[in-house]
Amino acid sequence: MTVYRSHAAGELRSDQAGADVRLAGWVARVRDLGGISFFDLRDGTGVIQVVVDPASVPAASGLRMEYCVAVEGTVRPRPEGTENPDLATGDIEVAADRLEVLSASAPLPFMVDDRSDAEERIRLRHRYLDLRRPRMAANLQARSSAIRAIRETLDGMGFLDVETPTLVNSTPEGARDFLVPSRLRPGHFYALPQSPQLFKQLLMIAGVERYYQIARCYRDEDTRADRQVEFTQLDLEGSFWGRDDVLDAIEQVVAAVVERLRGVEVALPLPRITYQEAMARYGTDKPDLRFGMEIADLSEVFAGTRFRGFGQVLAGGGVVRGINAAARKASRAELDGLVERAKSLGAAGLVWAVVQDGGGLRSPVAKFLSAPEKAGMVGTLEASPGDVLLLVADSAEVASKVLGRIRLDLGSPEEHESLYFLWVVDFPVFELTEQGDLAPSHHPFTAPVSVEEMRERPSHAVAQAYDLVLNGSELGSGSVRIHDPTVQRAVFEILGISEDEAESRFGWFLEALRYGTPPHAGFAIGIDRLVAILQNESSIREVIPFPKTQSGGDPLTTAPTRVVDTQLGELGIDLAAATKAALSDRPAPPRRA
Ligand code: ASP
Repeated sequence: MTVYRSHAAGELRSDQAGADVRLAGWVARVRDLGGISFFDLRDGTGVIQVVVDPASVPAASGLRMEYCVAVEGTVRPRPEGTENPDLATGDIEVAADRLEVLSASAPLPFMVDDRSDAEERIRLRHRYLDLRRPRMAANLQARSSAIRAIRETLDGMGFLDVETPTLVNSTPEGARDFLVPSRLRPGHFYALPQSPQLFKQLLMIAGVERYYQIARCYRDEDTRADRQVEFTQLDLEGSFWGRDDVLDAIEQVVAAVVERLRGVEVALPLPRITYQEAMARYGTDKPDLRFGMEIADLSEVFAGTRFRGFGQVLAGGGVVRGINAAARKASRAELDGLVERAKSLGAAGLVWAVVQDGGGLRSPVAKFLSAPEKAGMVGTLEASPGDVLLLVADSAEVASKVLGRIRLDLGSPEEHESLYFLWVVDFPVFELTEQGDLAPSHHPFTAPVSVEEMRERPSHAVAQAYDLVLNGSELGSGSVRIHDPTVQRAVFEILGISEDEAESRFGWFLEALRYGTPPHAGFAIGIDRLVAILQNESSIREVIPFPKTQSGGDPLTTAPTRVVDTQLGELGIDLAAATKAALSDRPAPPRRA
């Protein structure tokens, strides 16, 4: 096989008994049994037990964990009763007659096995050891297989893999840019791409009808749960495409990846729900469908209620909504805890009720509710005795948002490994920022369903934008793009970007749009997230070979680091002045799309 090996350790089987083999790898476990040494030899394919007598093979006497060794010996069946059924090579062992330590290992900072529970910072500090652990090695393999499946699928569909630059000017995806100073043009900066958005649109104008790229993207965001400042997307775009062409292509891709990594078939087409419906029924634009507990509207049930808590809200144009949190043992204190939780999420309160045998309700407000109202609650929420019902009366938005969060607190997937994909379509074009301004809810190149509607009621306008959700995580987003420069200008205008500013920031792009731009649409999928979910990892860091910590640092290389003054001098950067300015005048971070 190679200069060092005749076989791969993990691929040896009992039918090779009697074969002379040369293996090379790492010492994964050593046991010294009175004169005879056993160790597990691990290579990229798995482990095999090696038996060696240090009396005849002296190098075997000083073996330690993670020494890198080469072994020559003979495959033989393990003695009866000592087989290990948990191991693919568990029926056999290699009796070594030669052993060479290729490279010794320093004492280990943590055990290189899947039982290791070392702190993440230490694992990242020694990522090269961490990646030797079978689980991490499997994650690397899975990532590679996923990317191969993506490429095979898209290559088969006639897509062109095109690289776009990573020293660019700012792409408005809504996050903060990483900037790279230009030495040759002091005071000027490149940005690292937040996505290849505008380049892929330029490629459509250039006549590349189907583009994709496994693209590294950069967003200088503050620490947010399980995000990386540097991440990988499958980015794609097609011209003469509408929304359904994108959805179809993406479905083929995710089905191929799931098939490759999980060996299961995904039923296509994937279900779709509108943004409006998702917000109403799940209180979120990324519903986790692994469990039910849908939000139901009970406003009609309480239309004529005498219970003032509900009546006043309904009279003011609000709603009463609820979930059936199913039968659960909940003490009074726990139920009251949910009321506090609802308040902390922004609701005025929460009403709980436990369905009794015979259909009655145990609830602090039971005495205010009429029999038809109680029956309406039980009926609408499809409740059975023992079920806990939770109701919030508020604006539609708050009621669903609060119930959606409580749904996530209380719900749990029946089967952990199950995969629930969902398209969320018809996102709004704009959303309101905390300051009350309009910001793109996707990015400003997204086409509205109706230009007239967008001009007249921008805050209500629906976009041709869609997200793909898997198990309650957003896997990616995309949209049909604006291909008409006048519409593009209109969007900038609504966003409060003046013609001059649009010209100076995106003039080059607006100009390109004027040269016969085909209708086009696209999408980007977060590869890190997709692989993490398919590998049952709760953090994307487990499937990124060399991830950064939450604060954007790399404990291994210590990046980011200070640089020497001469480097700064060459770049024309005065750190003292820059730091001072940054501290005194920190601009508010731009909103994310
Ligand atoms: N550029 C978008 C993003 O990175 C995806 C897209 O619209 O294709 O989220």
